Parts: sequence; C-alpha cells; structure tokens
Amino acid sequence: MPKSLFVDFKAVKAAITMEQVLDHYGLLDKFKRSGDSLSGPCPIHKGSNPTQFRVSVSKNLWHCFSECKHGGNTLDFIARMEDVSIHAAAIKAIEWFQLDPEAVQGSSEDGEEHQEETTQRERAPAPKPATKNTVPQEENGALNKPLKFRLDKLEREHPYLIRERGLTLETIVDFGIGFCGKGMMADRIAIPIHNVTGEVLAYAGRWPGEPAEDTPKYKLPQGFRKSLELFNLDRAIKEPADKPLVIVEGFFDAMKLHQNGWRKVVALMGSTMSAAQEELIRKHTNAGSHVIIMLDEDEAGQTGSDDIAARLAKFCFVTTHVFDEPNTQPEQLFPEDLVEILEGVP
Ligand SMILES: [Zn+2]
Repeated sequence: MPKSLFVDFKAVKAAITMEQVLDHYGLLDKFKRSGDSLSGPCPIHKGSNPTQFRVSVSKNLWHCFSECKHGGNTLDFIARMEDVSIHAAAIKAIEWFQLDPEAVQGSSEDGEEHQEETTQRERAPAPKPATKNTVPQEENGALNKPLKFRLDKLEREHPYLIRERGLTLETIVDFGIGFCGKGMMADRIAIPIHNVTGEVLAYAGRWPGEPAEDTPKYKLPQGFRKSLELFNLDRAIKEPADKPLVIVEGFFDAMKLHQNGWRKVVALMGSTMSAAQEELIRKHTNAGSHVIIMLDEDEAGQTGSDDIAARLAKFCFVTTHVFDEPNTQPEQLFPEDLVEILEGVP
C-alpha cells in the first residue's frame, strides 16, 4: 500500500476496536476488565502500575494517567506504540485488520480529517524506516504472509451455515468459520485460509445467501493471492498417503466432503489450477498417488477438469469424477453418494 495514500481515518476508526488493537499487541489477556473499562500497566511508557492505563471498551478510547498523561483513540494508540504518524498508524491498521480498502481510502478532495490529524501529529518523532509490514505483497514471487490477528467473536451457529449449507456445528468450529459482525468481512461468513503449515493467511468472506447484483459473493483481502494456495491443504496432507486426494472448486465443497468423512480434499477456490497450485500438488504427491478431480458439473468445471487432468497426469494417477446430473456440485453429495463414488475408484 503506497505511503502517499489518502486514508479515511473515520472509516478506519469505525472498523476497529481498542480490544482488537490490544489483542494485536497481545495485551488483551493481561488487562483487567471491569464493566466497560479495561485497565493495566501503560504499554506506551512501559509502566508497571496496573491501574494507570485505562480503556473504554464502548468508546474505544484510552488514557494513561501516569507518565504519558495522554490519551486518544485507536489510531492514536497505534501511532504511539509504533512511534509513527496517524497516517502510518491507519495504514498499519488497514493491513493488520484486513480492512476493506475501498471503504477506508478517502479521496484527495475529502481529506479534511486527514489534514487536521496529521497537523496534530507533526511534532511527533519521525517515522521509523519501513517495517516488514509495509513490504508490498504483489511483488513477483512474493508469498502470502501469515496474519498477525484472528477474527474472533464469529457467530458459529449462523442459519446460513447450518440450514442453507448443511454444515454441522462441529464442521463449523473445525474450520473456524462464522458470521462476522465487524471489519472488512462485516456481514459475511469469514473463512480462514491456511498455508501448508497451518498458519492463517487470510479470511475469505462469503455473503450469506444470494447477494444483490452489485455485491460480490466472495470477498478476499487486497493483496492476498488465492492462486498461491490450496484451501485445506494443511489438513489433507495429514491423511494417509495411499488415500486419493480429491480436488474440488469451492470452500463449501471441501468442508462438506470433510464433514461426510472424506478429509483428504483441497479446494482450488475457483475452477482453474494455477501453476503454483500445481506445484503444491506435485510436492505432496508421487507417481503412486491418486488424485480425483471433482469439479462442478458445469461448463467452467468441465473445461477446468480437462486442463487439470492433463497437467497432473504427468506426475500422478488422475481420474475425473463426472456427475450424472448437470450443474451438480460436490457439496450436494450425500455421505452415501460419496462412499459409492470414492469406493468405486480404481
Ligand atoms: Zn503511559
């Protein structure tokens, strides 16, 4: 994210809470909660008195009654902790909490609050040189970086997941998904995407139901490259080597197969396989491995299947599952269908 970017501070402040910020710094558990307030030693001047630093949870404000004799909002806090300007603090917050860039980037015309707040901070010490947080992720060969936060307070027992997608609470908890109330994934089902070692790289946000025409079904954080990952790979590789690996398109296909007892499944997060995804599969298979391609029974799925089969067949044994009914998705399979399909494979 370029440094010169205009940021809508109000939108950033509205999207994050002091609790999230304290949690980011690993401080939330160390603070004492009493009604609406949290108190603890001041992390800014690194004091030891456990009541000198206080936070209003509902107002998202803080104050240090000791050495700092100062207080402010979430961005003031990040700015003080990082020793940077409010502008730099807002950019950090956007990155750390994966805020929706469109919602928090003001235009240069309405930079009023930006003006006001940067003037206030002009006497602040010069920003430190760029930290690792500001390295652009779009560079060629760059990897998706593990997130430094988790979306908590996700609503697990959301009707969309249980009634419409047919997931059990066990599956929902197992995959760490849930309805998100705040931040970039607000009003969406947040789905964590892990790398091969199980670190969370991003949250995908699925609109719960059929979205309006101008609302995308899925939202991914800016800078995250889904083509570099395979959903559920970290868990699929823990399954027995002689078991076939099933490749599906979507998150819910993978979750449903998992729920129905077939845990060696990865999702492409689309109907095509990128070179990076091919490499991941190659790394975790050998000439004796069996891969089953089970994409949606539609035009995109069929085209994708043919291409993927041709590419994977160069280094492992591949079969493609063809559904009898058009427009079938693996997600719709009943456990008994799945048993029949997967037990019937050579
Ligand atoms: Zn202080």
